[in-house]
Amino acid sequence: MEIKKNYINGEWVESVTGRTRDIICPSNEERIGITTESSAADAKQAILAAKSAFYETGEWRRTCGQVRADYLYKIASKIEQKRDELAKMDTLDNGKPLREAQCDIEDAVACFKYYAGLITKPQGGVYEVNDGFGPMHSYCMHEPVGVCAQITPWNYPMLMSVWKLAPALAAGNCIVFKPSENAPLSTIALFEIFDEVGLPKGTVNLVLGNGPEVGNEFSESLDVDMITFTGSTKTGQAIAKNAVGNLKKVGLELGGKSPNIIFADADLEGAVEWAMIGIFFNAGQVCSAGSRIIIEESFKDVFVKRLIERANAITIGPGMENPDMGAIITKEQMNKILSYIETAKEEGATLVCGGARYTQGECAKGFYIRPTVFDQCTSDMKIVREEVFGPVVTIQTFKTEEEAIALANDTPYGLAGAVFSTDGARALRVVKEIRAGITWINCYNPTFNEAPWGGYKMSGWGRELSVHGLEEYQEVKQININLAPGTIGWYEH
Ligand code: NAD
Repeated sequence: MEIKKNYINGEWVESVTGRTRDIICPSNEERIGITTESSAADAKQAILAAKSAFYETGEWRRTCGQVRADYLYKIASKIEQKRDELAKMDTLDNGKPLREAQCDIEDAVACFKYYAGLITKPQGGVYEVNDGFGPMHSYCMHEPVGVCAQITPWNYPMLMSVWKLAPALAAGNCIVFKPSENAPLSTIALFEIFDEVGLPKGTVNLVLGNGPEVGNEFSESLDVDMITFTGSTKTGQAIAKNAVGNLKKVGLELGGKSPNIIFADADLEGAVEWAMIGIFFNAGQVCSAGSRIIIEESFKDVFVKRLIERANAITIGPGMENPDMGAIITKEQMNKILSYIETAKEEGATLVCGGARYTQGECAKGFYIRPTVFDQCTSDMKIVREEVFGPVVTIQTFKTEEEAIALANDTPYGLAGAVFSTDGARALRVVKEIRAGITWINCYNPTFNEAPWGGYKMSGWGRELSVHGLEEYQEVKQININLAPGTIGWYEH
């Protein structure tokens, strides 16, 4: 099996460590790839390549928006050509059902096209000003930040990479990138595409390896101007601390424990299906997962009965067979979820569905967990407070709108949330009270390139996607021009 290498300064190179890592398919525990395993020294090399490309050569940052857009369109078109291969790669690497991976690849194509379009649109502004120094013309323009380090998780391997790379490239930055060591294959394929389209040397650099070794170098380096990270809140906090050395810009997309508020007037079947999409999509390994159902007391029994029926009917299996739910990323992650389930039982939550590893048939190998529902939950329970990152949902009840809002906001996180009700005014009133960056009414999880993605509170800093996602990767410069050059007599009064 070919060892997948780092991509530094336009060359595919092995790590200086000579170490490698086996990439394991979570659906059957078989080895599907080998990557080079990098150290801080590799990260340093990549950073120097990006630094030189940005500050010395400057080729990419000096291209006009249209030229960068042309590259981004070419990248989108290559991803489109390879979409079947890339979707299968993510399914094998991550364990997700093929149809979910196919949607991810389509979204990745659209994301590159979106930023290709956006970067050619007007940016900045012009102001006619006169403050006593004479007539001045003041305008502002957007410039790239410089060397951007980017680190992604494994839950949407291709898509999380693209959400960072597309806007950073559109803005004219040079990049050092580390995908999750658990699912790096589609990102490596994306860098092969970057190589094929001929991005200038050093514009994009890939370093494969684990978080602490490579990631710490990225966050601590004085040569990195910005670091953007998607992953757990704990790692995000460590990155933010490391970044203060040179006060680099920091973007953080972190964890969540998002509320899904359901009123008794909601459409029953619709609310059940969306709640399932909220927590069982990608086997619950979604930062915005609707992991806390907060439901009006009078509606709970009928809702939970239907949720259990439908959750028990979910098919589980290897992603390539397109089940409803695939595997959990690693054995370690599966065991972590199972231990949360055990703690929930000990704390008095009532297990009404699932709650165990799934090992039937082909699933004897691989890491599968049954869709799990806990009833009778209270806000002090660990299962309600902490991010499980698996197909596990808790049920809490409320009697009044105020109570629903208080329960929803009783969390250190603030990533996402939803409200289900056929009373439009109430749904909007309540959704506005949820302290979170991404919210839905009568649906859960749809995400758009056009809309900003990011969290309040301990769910992160900054936004990805949309115009905001581009601006994160830009500095704003004002240029003031004296329209009457010459003296102004300031010292002659
Ligand atoms: P993680 O924090 O363990 O790892 C994420 C990435 O950070 C990986 O590439 C890892 O190698 C790297 N890393 C680990 N330690 C590091 C360090 N000290 N310095 C720098 N990098 C380091 O998270 P994970 O388990 O891969 O992903 C799951 C988490 O990601 C969940 O908490 C989930 O909510 C979050 N997530 C958030 C979003 C969002 O948009 N807010 C999206 C997807 C996932």
